[in-house]
Amino acid sequence: MLSNLAARDVETLIHPYTNLATFRETGSLVLERGHGVWVYDSDGRPYLEGMAGLWCTALGYSNEELVEAAREQMSRLPFTHLFSGRSHDPAIELAETLKELMPVPTSKIFFTSSGSEANDTQVKLTWYLNNALGRPTKKKIICHRKGYHGVTVATASMTGLPANHADWDLPLPGFLHTGCPHHYRFGEAGETEGAFAARLADELDALIQREGPDTVAAFVAEPILGAGGAIVPPAGYYAGIQAVLERYDVRFIADEVICGFGRLGTWFGAEAMGMRPDSLTFAKALTSGYMPLGGISIDEPLYREMVSQSAKLGTFGHGTTYSGHPVACAVALKTIAIYRRDGIVEGVAAKAPHFQARLSALADHPIVGEARGVGLIGGIEIVACKRTKRQYDPKAGVAARCVAFAQAEGLIVRFLAGDRIAVCPPLVIAPAEIDTLFDRLGRALDRTRAWIA
Ligand code: PLP
Repeated sequence: MLSNLAARDVETLIHPYTNLATFRETGSLVLERGHGVWVYDSDGRPYLEGMAGLWCTALGYSNEELVEAAREQMSRLPFTHLFSGRSHDPAIELAETLKELMPVPTSKIFFTSSGSEANDTQVKLTWYLNNALGRPTKKKIICHRKGYHGVTVATASMTGLPANHADWDLPLPGFLHTGCPHHYRFGEAGETEGAFAARLADELDALIQREGPDTVAAFVAEPILGAGGAIVPPAGYYAGIQAVLERYDVRFIADEVICGFGRLGTWFGAEAMGMRPDSLTFAKALTSGYMPLGGISIDEPLYREMVSQSAKLGTFGHGTTYSGHPVACAVALKTIAIYRRDGIVEGVAAKAPHFQARLSALADHPIVGEARGVGLIGGIEIVACKRTKRQYDPKAGVAARCVAFAQAEGLIVRFLAGDRIAVCPPLVIAPAEIDTLFDRLGRALDRTRAWIA
């Protein structure tokens, strides 16, 4: 029975990242099907999916080749695990393909089912590595304020957002946060982006010194901070950060869950943002969001220690039932084959100037303080005063209201803390659809301005 879905939803489901107090009034948007960059609600109304689902449906909806890859694997071998040396061809082939693609020296691939599990694995392996190396105190993990790395106990601790900490008894001890590389919001009056980047590198250096370099194990960072507000760090920022990490022998991990697989017009965000990490975390666009799959790259020095730990302890004591699920791996293989065959990453680079021009033009809107992005991702910040960058009272929910107006215009975008709005459409979006997206977003901003007045 498909009638009254929204009413039944309110009575039965707990929704992630939803205000459960107001949800009974605001209700749900029940989506039923999708095609290309469009999704349709249960009344048949179309929406341009300006968020690629949750930053993931890179190839858009209804891609029959992905459906067929899943169907074929589902009927041949729907499940086998990778425990105790058990294996299957999609996982082996996908690991080989990913090793070729990784922008950093990679010895092996470890699969998970989500970005959270993958980052959780990064933390555990960092601890495991330093125990193997006889550095039992070198365990602290540093991330960005406003960074997002997931929701498990460890990855919510890594995440630098208040909603993930308040009343959750997090972050756990040993998880630290350093300055958010957002010049528009945190740069001082008259400070250039270069000086701001240098100041943040100094801040990280001082934090590591204060904590003691022999206690700091890893720094984990997104190339562009997604859920924190689609924030673009200043040019050269990561070069300064890397110099600090090298000074103190701190492992550098790039969280590519959003930026991986073409979002910035390069295969990985690390390439676009000048990062040289030791390891990458990936998920989302690996399967174009069609199946849950994530993973991490394992460098040779880490692999060697993992082998010697197994020799000592008797096993590698980590992994989940669905690590490297065969149907998910088959879909990922097909997704990457399409990225390669159709030149999807090059296509992003070609479309990016148009997308970024339309995005930056929004900065002229009377209630927009910043509009900035890279590739096919961008963030805008709504402000009460453009000159002073003063924000509206968070309780007014201005960005949330703008997103609701966008939805009424037939556009899905996402509001984030600090009155920011993220735009992150499927990578297959056509130039005319980019125009539709920004035309509708512009009208939503106009309606928000009228609503405020
Ligand atoms: N890392 C980043 C950068 C993310 O954006 C996300 C999710 O949005 C995660 C990790 C967590 O991934 P998941 O929601 O699949 O657990």
